[in-house]
Amino acid sequence: MKPVEVDVGVERHASQVVRNAAIAGWSGHLSIVRLSYPEPMPPSPHAADGLRLMAVHAHPDDESSKGAASTARYVAEGVSVMVVTCTGGERGDVLNPKLADNVEIAANLVEIRRQEMDRAREILGVEQRWLGFVDSGYLEDYRVDDRDELPAGCFARESMDDAVRPLVGLIREFRPQVITTYDENGGYPHPDHIMCHDVSVAAFDAAADGSVFPEQGTPWQALKLYYHHGFHKERFQALHAGMLDAGLESPFGQWLDEWVDRPEDEDRITTWVPCGDFFGVRDDALRAHATQIDDEGWWFGVPREVQQRVWPTEEFERARSMIDVQLPEDDLFAGIR
Ligand SMILES: [Zn+2]
Repeated sequence: MKPVEVDVGVERHASQVVRNAAIAGWSGHLSIVRLSYPEPMPPSPHAADGLRLMAVHAHPDDESSKGAASTARYVAEGVSVMVVTCTGGERGDVLNPKLADNVEIAANLVEIRRQEMDRAREILGVEQRWLGFVDSGYLEDYRVDDRDELPAGCFARESMDDAVRPLVGLIREFRPQVITTYDENGGYPHPDHIMCHDVSVAAFDAAADGSVFPEQGTPWQALKLYYHHGFHKERFQALHAGMLDAGLESPFGQWLDEWVDRPEDEDRITTWVPCGDFFGVRDDALRAHATQIDDEGWWFGVPREVQQRVWPTEEFERARSMIDVQLPEDDLFAGIR
């Protein structure tokens, strides 16, 4: 299952987990890591030089709100994880009501968001790179046909060639077996999320094709491409029921009553990754993006124990696989290690 090189990585990442635990005010995390995973097995040829996961995201904070607990789990297992952040989040609003009126934050938002990203990167134990594009800003009911209405020079208005090129370079440098991104709707219709999807899918193929962007390094074929699918009704129904069972007021009642069914969301899920032990790391990474979250908001009102009991997984759709692995899966690296 894991090659010798990865075992060395486990030791390295174990100390990172201890640091994370200290940051998070936890104890006993390391023993969970040690007890939770089986003894190393002989490596498969796909993983001969270690396992690598690349998570491509649109803005700083997306890496902490989508798939963050699975990221933390893989890091704890010794997988090398690179988060790629397409834009600097320059047009994000300050969403934390406690900081919303702070003129100093508003004037220095770009730098502050970089510092927040640094902190989240440390907490998650990942490597992180910026693609250097400029946030397109949110446009209500955005469709790709509306891109000319977006600010000049923003990410969603870049040519596909210019947008894909640097990601191809990073894929060829990092050589991930697995890449994650958003579905074609972006998870929600932010122009940068939809662009992130388009660019990731194109780069998955282009990185393997030596005739494309030859100056960007030696071709590399990633084996699997996944889309995040955390925002679906079944999960929120379970959390709602879990809150009521615990005798707590659920923040989801009215929301679920008004939910517009998109059954295809649940039908698209192929892969459930168990990661409940890492929800605390996820929450701390999210809190590191202090300007972008309300830490007294509804999400943090759902006790972690309830989440761990009723929905201890993160969900993904396997969009591409270059290897034959049966569905459903419980591991993004199924068939690779
Ligand atoms: Zn975003």
